[in-house]
Amino acid sequence: MTMGNENRELHIIFFPFLANGHIIPCVDLARVFAARGIRATIVTTHLNVPYISRTIGKANINIRTIKFPSTEDSGLPEGCENTESALAPDKFIKFMKATLLLRDPLEHVLQEEQPHCLVADMFFPWATDSAAKFGIPRIVFHGLGYFPLCVLACTRQYKPQDKVSSYTEPFVVPNLPGEITLTKMQLPQLPQHDKVFTQLLEESNESELKSFGVIVNSFYELEPVYADHYRNELGRRAWHLGPVSLCSRDTEEKSRRGREAAIDENECLKWLQSKEPNSVVYVCFGSMMVFSDAQLKEIAMGLEASGKPFIWVVKKGGAKSEGEKLEWFPEGFEERMGESNKGLIIRGWAPQVMILDHGAVGGFVTHCGWNSTLEGVCAGVPMVTWPMYGEQFYNAKFLTDIVKIGVGVGVQTWIGMGGGEPVKKEVIEQAVRRIMVGQEAEEMRNRAKELSQMAKRAVEEGGSSHNDFNSLIEDLRSRAH
Ligand code: UDP
Repeated sequence: MTMGNENRELHIIFFPFLANGHIIPCVDLARVFAARGIRATIVTTHLNVPYISRTIGKANINIRTIKFPSTEDSGLPEGCENTESALAPDKFIKFMKATLLLRDPLEHVLQEEQPHCLVADMFFPWATDSAAKFGIPRIVFHGLGYFPLCVLACTRQYKPQDKVSSYTEPFVVPNLPGEITLTKMQLPQLPQHDKVFTQLLEESNESELKSFGVIVNSFYELEPVYADHYRNELGRRAWHLGPVSLCSRDTEEKSRRGREAAIDENECLKWLQSKEPNSVVYVCFGSMMVFSDAQLKEIAMGLEASGKPFIWVVKKGGAKSEGEKLEWFPEGFEERMGESNKGLIIRGWAPQVMILDHGAVGGFVTHCGWNSTLEGVCAGVPMVTWPMYGEQFYNAKFLTDIVKIGVGVGVQTWIGMGGGEPVKKEVIEQAVRRIMVGQEAEEMRNRAKELSQMAKRAVEEGGSSHNDFNSLIEDLRSRAH
């Protein structure tokens, strides 16, 4: 199929959930469509525009803004338009409730724009009905891959977690290839005191089943068994168009995803260039995770003891001024890292994809958010898996047990359950060594590099994701006529 003016006839509206880990892949997805000639518009609230504009870069994508409910209606403080400023559990629930009030403003935009399709995040369950009001299909985007989607669907349908007698008793996920064992402690834990979230997830599931289908951020070769299972056994209509992060091709695009970086990109590249290929460990726990002082100290000691050069992204302390000592650093840590040029600490937002894709990076310590998981795959690096919440335990299992490019730090408990004891420095040191040196590391690196090549082929002309894009456009076009 030739892509060009005829695609321009199609207009798609993208409506990302207001969290960095959802906004970034959704904007990347819109960029995938725009690059193939589709007219793309992103709808969001005012305060999220700067991050979205940065990520859009030079792509031909419009932004339409809608107003977030007033502080009176939402009960949220002024300026709270992203989950990053609503991390406390009570605030988070209020935030989720407030997003229900975005329905009318979104429908107003649909009325004005008359698009052919609405791609909306899973956290907007009402979006299927909104789209139906205007006679257009709604597609769901979770930003996830097939494996976590299959686990979520099977645990929801068969509820194996209700048949065990404790949080620690293992169960096998029914109707899922690969004998996947989990415990109740590793499943997303819903806040007990408020039914809003539980209800939202139920409605999200119902609206997904009623929707036109699901866009998956993955590529077929990464998880063929689960791609087939999701579509053929679980009966979902799905198109895999990923990895969407590969739409950023050059260093500038890679460094401009999400927030403004807390480090000068050139300084960061210069530091990386001074290191041997595959020698650096990149350590980052996503856009939201803030650790306790005790845990940060263990990480610092573990990284130092590993003897490997590292870039460590620390969300806590990001606001401190340069030169100011952080009380949780082990004695003399910053000085030793500075003198030996061994460690680069980024306090705040890091240009993650730019760093991961640099040839000096040889391993990634990750919380296993799906975006980070896939970005690690694209970079072809083995990973230390340190899951904490959401569906991260499933993604960690995928890396360690299925594609076998990950080594766990042994966490067993969802962070919302108290998170257990801090992971000790010896465990961190050992896990880092296992992905960086020796035969096991080399074998994992070889597998990771192969997957990275497959990912890149998947998004090129004739690749599996490129072809699935064509099928989706055919489906939308025949529906539009
Ligand atoms: N990210 C980044 N710099 C940071 C932290 C995160 O660029 O300092 C990006 C990362 O590349 C990924 C996204 O933010 O695309 C985080 O998504 P993920 O699913 O990994 O985790 P979440 O933040 O949703 O827990």
